[in-house]
Amino acid sequence: MRILVVEDEVAIRKVIETVFQLRNYDVTLVNTATDGITTARTEPFDCVVLDLGLPDGTGFQVLKSMRDSDNTTPVLILSAERDVELKVQGLVSGADDYLTKPFDNTELIARVEALIRRATTYNKKVDEVLTCGDITLNQLTRECHIGGKHVWLTNNEHNLLAYFMRNPNRMISKLELSEKVWAIPFDTHTNFVNVYISYLRKKIADYSSYNYIDTHRGKGFTFSGPS
Ligand code: CA
Repeated sequence: MRILVVEDEVAIRKVIETVFQLRNYDVTLVNTATDGITTARTEPFDCVVLDLGLPDGTGFQVLKSMRDSDNTTPVLILSAERDVELKVQGLVSGADDYLTKPFDNTELIARVEALIRRATTYNKKVDEVLTCGDITLNQLTRECHIGGKHVWLTNNEHNLLAYFMRNPNRMISKLELSEKVWAIPFDTHTNFVNVYISYLRKKIADYSSYNYIDTHRGKGFTFSGPS
C-alpha cells in the first residue's frame, strides 16, 4: 500500500512514517501544499493523510485540487483544530475522515486502513448499477442519473446514496451511516450525517419530484422509491 503524507511538523512526519513503514507501507512525505498538489496529481496512492495548516497554504487546497481532477483517493485530514465547523468543512470538501492532533497511533492506522478497505470494497463492485425509481447510480463510472438527467455527486454523496440504494425500505440510524458510509465512529458533536443528507436531498429534489429520504426524528432515515 502506498500513502502520501502531507505534513510540515517534523516530529509528526517521523511518527507517521515509522508506524506505517512498520506495517510495510510505502510512505511518501511532503511538507507543503504545493508539493502535496503535485505529488497527488502525478503518483497513485491508496490513501492521503493531510495536515490542514501548511507553510504555503492549507490542506483544503490539496483536497480541492485532488477532487477537482476527479482523484477519488481516500483522504484523512489531520489537524490540531478541534473546531467542529472545520471538521464539517473538511468532510463537505470531499475528505473521507478527520483526526484531531494529538492522535493515538493505533487510531490513525485503524482509520487509514478502514478508508483503504472501504475504497477497495467499492472498487470490487465495479459492475454494479443501482436503480430505484428515477435514480440510477453506476458504481463503476460513479455516474448518477436522476429523472434522466446526469447529476454530479461528490464522493461522500455518492457513497451515501449507494448505501441507501443498497439498503432500501428500512430505517438506517445515523450511527450506521457514520460507520458504514464514512467508516467513522459516531461522534455526537458533529452533525455531518445531517449535513450530507441535506445536500443529497437537495440534489435529488432538483431533478425528481419524489421524496426518497424520510427522516425519523432522532432515530435515522429510510430510503424508499415509488412503489
Ligand atoms: Ca501543520
